[in-house]
Amino acid sequence: MTPIYLNLLELGKNKIKRILVTHTHPDHSPGAKVLADKLKIPMMGRLVAKDDSRQDRTFKPDQVLNHGDIIKTDEYTIEVIHTPGHASNHLCYLIAEEETMLTGDHIMNGSTVVIAHPDGSMRQYLDSLTLLKNYKFNRIGPGHGDFLGDPFAVVDWIIAHRLERESKVVEKLQLISPCNSNTLVKEVYDDVDERLHPIALWSLEAHLTKLLEDKVAVFDSDQQAWSLN
Ligand SMILES: [Zn+2]
Repeated sequence: MTPIYLNLLELGKNKIKRILVTHTHPDHSPGAKVLADKLKIPMMGRLVAKDDSRQDRTFKPDQVLNHGDIIKTDEYTIEVIHTPGHASNHLCYLIAEEETMLTGDHIMNGSTVVIAHPDGSMRQYLDSLTLLKNYKFNRIGPGHGDFLGDPFAVVDWIIAHRLERESKVVEKLQLISPCNSNTLVKEVYDDVDERLHPIALWSLEAHLTKLLEDKVAVFDSDQQAWSLN
């Protein structure tokens, strides 16, 4: 067992009663299973998306959680919020007493969240960000990075940043379409290190899919080319 597990076991000795899983990407749920088995406690979360190869297929929640579920103990009240976008089965958890939103990979500190189509959806991601603004909390506990204060400013910034990128996709399509996504990624992400373009391509395709749904863009499957409608 690695030091991080040993630390968690030590810190949580006789205290950890259940594990709330945010989603089933391979850097999240497999670790929960190790702890759950060791402590003989239940894992709670949502089922693995069937048609996504990037998921931890071994994950089997002892209890399936749904949007609006409340987990109440003597110590805390946690509300379950379904936030599809990064992953279709993604959940955020609001600890009411702490006014803290645990956001998993929905909001990270220090890196941009990858939206990989088809399980990831840019439209759902933006809707799920807006959804968070209906809740009362004053800090974000992300799945990667330290706590974030001023949560509503963070949410607004992410939405604005994504919409700005979407505008850039439209702007570049105006200039160079018809073109395929490999050509487009170099233009739309010209401010990002080229080594990250393979990952940016996932987000670009999520943007393009949203633009297709919005009837702003069209896709020619014979030519594998995108252009504006
Ligand atoms: Zn993830």
